[in-house]
Amino acid sequence: MKYFDIPSPCYVLEENKLKHNLSILNLVRSACDVKILLALKGYAFWHSFDIARDYLDGCCASGIYEALLAFEEFGGREIQKDICVFSPAYKDSEIDLLLPIATHIIFNSFEQWQKFKHKIRIKNKQLESLGFCKIQVGLRVNPLYSEVKPPIYNPCVSGSRLGIVPSEFEKGLQRFGLEDIDGLHFHTHCEQNSDALERTLEYFEKYFGRHISQMKWINFGGGHHITRIDYDVDKLVSILKNFKNRYDGIDIFLEPGEAVGWQSGFLIGEVVDIVYNQMNVAILDVSASAHMPDCLEMPYRPNVKKISIINGNEEIEDDKGNGVAEYVYRFGGPTCLAGDIIGDYSFNTPLKIGDRILFEDMMHYTIVKNNTFNGVPLPSLGSIRDDKFLLLKTFQYADYKNRN
Ligand SMILES: *Cc1c(COP(=O)(O)O)cnc(C)c1O
Repeated sequence: MKYFDIPSPCYVLEENKLKHNLSILNLVRSACDVKILLALKGYAFWHSFDIARDYLDGCCASGIYEALLAFEEFGGREIQKDICVFSPAYKDSEIDLLLPIATHIIFNSFEQWQKFKHKIRIKNKQLESLGFCKIQVGLRVNPLYSEVKPPIYNPCVSGSRLGIVPSEFEKGLQRFGLEDIDGLHFHTHCEQNSDALERTLEYFEKYFGRHISQMKWINFGGGHHITRIDYDVDKLVSILKNFKNRYDGIDIFLEPGEAVGWQSGFLIGEVVDIVYNQMNVAILDVSASAHMPDCLEMPYRPNVKKISIINGNEEIEDDKGNGVAEYVYRFGGPTCLAGDIIGDYSFNTPLKIGDRILFEDMMHYTIVKNNTFNGVPLPSLGSIRDDKFLLLKTFQYADYKNRN
């Protein structure tokens, strides 16, 4: 496989790296008999769902489009896979579309549950008569504890709309009870290790522990960075086993997104020009704003590789870090946004127009958020399997026109 054989720009999944992640998740699944769902918010590269299906129990969807993608490309109740939907607030029209697809519906308030419980009851009668499992209903709670630092990713900041806080839960309990509620859900992590889960469970149990024995399942949400090299998988397994032991074998769900796609592929672009303004600035055919928005939003600085043709061969050099090596470049995109800057990088050899730049770890979140801002073409999609590149999809002008 040659990097120069890949059309530029292109997002490329490396299937062996995805499989590596999936096998770690599968290990957790079988070690403690928990269910692991793929959160489509973080990883929606459905061309790989044929692979993911062999390792995971289903998908976690945040609304009708994600649920439809799960249904069409991963599979739902017909093949014993779960489609677990959570939304901060459902509209009538959305519930109608979700009922045929969802296996689990999680509500963000007692009021939303009350509003739709009749429709769910009717659907469940039909499902039962056809021999399918009923749609299970859950409530998302807010245990008032999260270790996530940036407030934009912390669902437990004051004023958060995500999850029922303990005082509101008590009120709802008094008014409506918990009959027909099958499970509780919390999602308070983002890129966390297993020690954060341990501390979070103390709060979850403090506020909601007395209801757990009535439940069929507890959903521990996403944000568990299980496939990261320093993640303590053994500790996770012991936390999950311990929880199951204490609650009579209750079912547990985890729904990681980022951990599925973590370091499983790249975005490759090309150096179109190099200009000078107190430093060398390379203008690429990939954009931070349109193709790697998390570089600006999260924010983070992706690692890169520089790929040049020297004497007919591809020479690959890892970036040495900002200002470390002799040849320093700022990488920017083709939009007119002044801040469309990916970062500053340095190399031992000079950059040339036509060189390829490979941005690592682009298969989760940032690809899901890509857009056609400023009319910038969308990168193609491809995958590498057995060291062979496969082009999956290209985009055209119509993809830009149709969304404006
Ligand atoms: C975002 C989200 C996830 C996935 O989170 P990751 O950080 O990608 O693992 C899972 N569940 C819910 C409810 C979410 O909002």
